[in-house]
Amino acid sequence: PAEPALEALQHADVAALLPRPGAASDKYRRGVVGIAAGSARYPGAAVLAVSGALRGGAGAVRYVGPAGDAVLARFPETLVSDRGPREAGRVQAWVVGPGAGDEAASVGEVLAQDVPVLIDADGLRLADRAAVRARTAPTLLTPHAGEAAALLGVAREEVEAARLASARELAQRYGATVLLKGSTTLVADPGGGPVRVNATGTAWLATAGSGDVLSGLAGSLLASGLSARDAGSVAAYLHGLAGRFAADGAPAGAHDVADAIPSAWRDVV
Ligand code: AMP
Ligand code: MG
Repeated sequence: PAEPALEALQHADVAALLPRPGAASDKYRRGVVGIAAGSARYPGAAVLAVSGALRGGAGAVRYVGPAGDAVLARFPETLVSDRGPREAGRVQAWVVGPGAGDEAASVGEVLAQDVPVLIDADGLRLADRAAVRARTAPTLLTPHAGEAAALLGVAREEVEAARLASARELAQRYGATVLLKGSTTLVADPGGGPVRVNATGTAWLATAGSGDVLSGLAGSLLASGLSARDAGSVAAYLHGLAGRFAADGAPAGAHDVADAIPSAWRDVV
């Protein structure tokens, strides 16, 4: 029989993949996730990405960028660096791009590091394709349909009409795992194989900042050692459930979704 094109991640699979600290764990072994996000114009994207990362299982969240004060005001446990990504200190996985505006230098600096990298939002526009392709550590791209269309050089409608093929094509072109967001979320690996599909979400997740929370969450799972495919699909699963819990009968903001991630996590384990 032919290989199935799609594969759904089950509750039990997610439970088995969630990081669990043990007696030998310390914050560094649990993983440090670096967040290079936000700008003077969009400081909130940094706060939201950090909020997702703090709920994703990494032992520490390090932030680099111009929104350090806003991040610290909300999350005092964040390690805020006043240096660029290269000198920020130990990081096991990076998230780059949410609300970043035109901070292109930090995208290049992050891509040059030999650790897993998640690229979202403005980072997708700023990342050099050859630099992404040249990476040997895992790379996870998290576009919505509009961002995927821009990367492929087609109209957004074309991506929406062919989401599976678009995710696969992007994964091939960039040599990276692609998480294509929308009413369902697809996760495609560059080597082909079945595409993971997640349908735990709700249309209430179509709200500003929602994707920034997902990026932080997935980055945190990457830092704790999951593959790009597992980190992306587990994050989509938890984020979708958190959206349902947060918007239980009424609309919710992206920060409410982040606050509901622990409930989603407890629901899975
Ligand atoms: P972004 O566009 O980057 O803010 O990300 C939006 C987030 O909300 C992604 O995780 C999407 O998968 C999710 N989302 C957007 N629209 C819907 C929808 N109609 N149903 C379910 N999830 C959605
Ligand atoms: Mg976004």
